[in-house]
Formats: sequence, structure tokens, C-alpha cells
Amino acid sequence: MAVPTIMPRTLKHRREFMRIFISSDMEGITGVVHRDQLMPEGKTYEAARRLFTHDLNAVMEGALREAPDAEFVICDGHGVMRNIVLEDLHERAQLVIGPAAFENKPLCQCECIDDSFDLGFLVGFHTRAGTPGGLLAHTWVGTTIANFFINGKVVGEIAINASIMGSYGIPVGLVTGDQGLKKEAEETLAGGHIFAQVKRALGPTAALCMTPKKTRPILADAAAEAVRKFKSKKFKLFKPKLPVTMEVQTYRREMTDRAVTVPGIKRTGEMSFSATADSAAKAASLIWHGVTRAQDAAAPWLT
Ligand SMILES: [Zn+2]
Repeated sequence: MAVPTIMPRTLKHRREFMRIFISSDMEGITGVVHRDQLMPEGKTYEAARRLFTHDLNAVMEGALREAPDAEFVICDGHGVMRNIVLEDLHERAQLVIGPAAFENKPLCQCECIDDSFDLGFLVGFHTRAGTPGGLLAHTWVGTTIANFFINGKVVGEIAINASIMGSYGIPVGLVTGDQGLKKEAEETLAGGHIFAQVKRALGPTAALCMTPKKTRPILADAAAEAVRKFKSKKFKLFKPKLPVTMEVQTYRREMTDRAVTVPGIKRTGEMSFSATADSAAKAASLIWHGVTRAQDAAAPWLT
């Protein structure tokens, strides 16, 4: 996917400024704990959008301390994907806005990534579906996906997005969210990423939260550390063995019935389907197509 050509596009090895791709979600943002904050009809949604924008500005400020010429592309990867407040966002960023219907965003939370980026951040993510005590825990689409597997291992969104980044040669330098996600990232990524914790999950819809004033330096310092560590070449890519198979277990049979109408998607059981490809980005894109097809006509977040 081509990035709008507002900024100069040059090859990784021929330029002197860093390009950082930020895949972002909302459940792991400072102060976000409840569904009311996550959907446009919620009474507390407008305030949560500002918190989302705040956390992103904080990580960019931190990264810019170590790489003053860095530029950023942020993919708004939550729900309707029109959450981040563009006019309040650091001017060094470009923002991918709009719902993740397959014809829009075949790479979902990593749309507009390409191999021109040097480093990846995962900001505001949450634990995977089924995490005990997980705050707002789910994988991609909470109403559809019971479990998500990469090469037979159950994983969450950080692994999905890290594997897409890895297939473009981009390591994950920073992950932000709660302590449950910290553990999931440690167990999954093993690439040396820096973690910034902004709250302590208490259960599915509550957390002990710090104020934005308090999390801003935590996020900024972690991002700065990630850039420093990147410069000393200390991150490893997250690269599942190829060819890679991604598999989804659905909650209902008809979801799988619909998903397997996508060419290349294979039924693996009564309520499961998979995609195999020679790169994680291709497998993720194919499986996302299947997941969007699995929705019934009334999935408002896709339109
Ligand atoms: Zn989300």
C-alpha cells in the first residue's frame, strides 16, 4: 500500500532519517478500561479519543528526542478506526484513518506499512482472547474470534502485527499497554522490545490507572529507549517459520461458513479456518479477508 506522497520516499539504506510505523489500538491506552470509552456512541468516547491521541504524541515526542528527523505513519487500529484526533496529533505523523473493510485495509492494523520503515511500535494494545483477568481482552474481533493461531500457537494481536512488521524487515521496538500485555509480549515476541506500562488491569473492565501527566514521560522515555536500542542494532525481527499458517476459531459455525467463501481460505473444522502463505503479511491479509467476510451484514464498524 502506498503512503500519500507528502513526505519524501527513499530507500531504507539511502537516507538519514528514521521512519517509524505505529500500529495502534485503544484498549491499552492510558485510562481506557470500558466499552463505553471505545465506541462513538459511548458517553465517555470523546475523552478517550483525546487519551488515545495523548499516548501517541507521548511516544513520538520520546522517539524524536533520539531521532529528531524521524517521521511516523500511524495506523488507527481500533473499532471504527476514526478515533485519533488528527488536529491534536504531532505534525510529524501521517495518520491512516478509516474502517478496515478488506477493500480499504487488507493489512488491518498495519495498513500503509512497507519496507521503507525502520522500526515498529505497538501502542495501546490489549491481551489476547481468553486471557485470565484480561482487561478488554480479545483478538481482532471479539464477537467472532475465540482463538487465533500462528503456526499452531495461540497468539494475540501483538503477534499478528509483529509478524506483519517482521515480514517487511521491521522489528518491534516498543509495546504499550497493561501488565497483562507486558507478560504476553514477553512470552510472544522475544525480540528485545521495550514495554511501557500505563495501567494495572484489575479485571475485564477495570484498571488502576495513572493520569496522562504521569504516563506521558513513561511513554516518552520508553520510546526514546527503543530508538536508542534500535540504533545499537539490538532488536530481533519477529518471523514465524515459513510458509506460515494463520488459523481462526470462530464462535459460530455460520461465521466459518462465510469466511471459507474467500479464495485461499481453507476450512479446518466445523468452526475454524486457516490461510497459509509464504509471508506473514500475506497470510494475515488473507485471514483478515476471511474474518471480515465472517461478519454478518450488520457489522457497523466495517462500514
Ligand atoms: Zn481495539
